[in-house]
Amino acid sequence: KAKSEGRDQFSFFTTTLNAKVHEEVAIANDMYRAFSDGEFELYYQPKIHIESGKIVGAEALIRWNHYQKGMISPDHFINIAENTGFILKLGTWIIEETAHTIKRLQDAGYDRVHISCNVSTRQFQNLNLYGEIKNAIQKNKINPKLLAIEITESVMLDYLEITLETLKKVKALGVNICMDDFGTGYSSLSYLRQLPIDSLKIDKSFVDDISCCEQNETILLNTIIAMGQTLNLHVIAEGVEEEYQMQYLKNRGCGYYQGYYFSRPVPEKTFFELLRTNYASSVTDGKSI
Ligand code: C2E
Ligand code: MG
Ligand code: MG
Ligand code: MG
Repeated sequence: KAKSEGRDQFSFFTTTLNAKVHEEVAIANDMYRAFSDGEFELYYQPKIHIESGKIVGAEALIRWNHYQKGMISPDHFINIAENTGFILKLGTWIIEETAHTIKRLQDAGYDRVHISCNVSTRQFQNLNLYGEIKNAIQKNKINPKLLAIEITESVMLDYLEITLETLKKVKALGVNICMDDFGTGYSSLSYLRQLPIDSLKIDKSFVDDISCCEQNETILLNTIIAMGQTLNLHVIAEGVEEEYQMQYLKNRGCGYYQGYYFSRPVPEKTFFELLRTNYASSVTDGKSI
């Protein structure tokens, strides 16, 4: 009996696995069509200066508006795009589009609002990543300080030398570099010091550790904030959903946050509307977070 049960489970497993692979292949094949049909769009999630509660910038987040399936979350396709190499094409577009948005902001008088975009580790294998960033800045005549890229701790795992060289060149343009999802990887203090980064983004999982009603201290979170301060980096927390989380971070000296508590990622037009009432140029030092 145990044997046949085992076999049933196995066939169940292979069936679901096949379905998953089929789905992924379907998505992979559909991306190129979707790209030329203009189904990809960047949404913007405001970044808030915690002391003043004002917007200082935003993170650009990719959305896939599928003509049949509706909105597809990046968690469902970024991995696939990385595996197929499509992320190189998409990544180029993301950088250009982010630069366009900064240009539109500048033209609208918001010349201190900065935007970050996510650059996946795979994109560092693109030997022209630096050139693409440089072109996007020059073509749009934007202040490079208003552009930031978000990388993850895994970025240095492969191609260490070329990645470090690219990062240094990008930074030399004036672009800011943010370590995303910080704390989930394996970074040590000494590793961090070698990287030309300007800001640390604390992963949501640490923000989730803040408890609502007790005065509990969250040791890991406190340590990360202190680490950022020691290294003289901007510290921003992601995934802040509740006022008590924001308050805790504020008390601990975390400079910035983003999260549903202030706003979800929104279309560009909505971001401009949010700026109209929630922006004060005086709270930024002109450097992107
Ligand atoms: P990430 O870069 O760490 O982005 C933060 C994610 O947390 C976003 O999910 C955002 O919508 C979500 N988030 C923000 N505030 C809250 C909150 O208060 N509560 C909760 N529950 N979630 C919050 P999103 O947009 O689905 O993106 C997921 C991940 O996909 C990103 O994580 C990033 O790794 C990747 N991604 C998104 N856009 C791009 C892109 O343009 N390029 C690349 N390479 N990756 C991207
Ligand atoms: Mg990010
Ligand atoms: Mg993140
Ligand atoms: Mg995250």
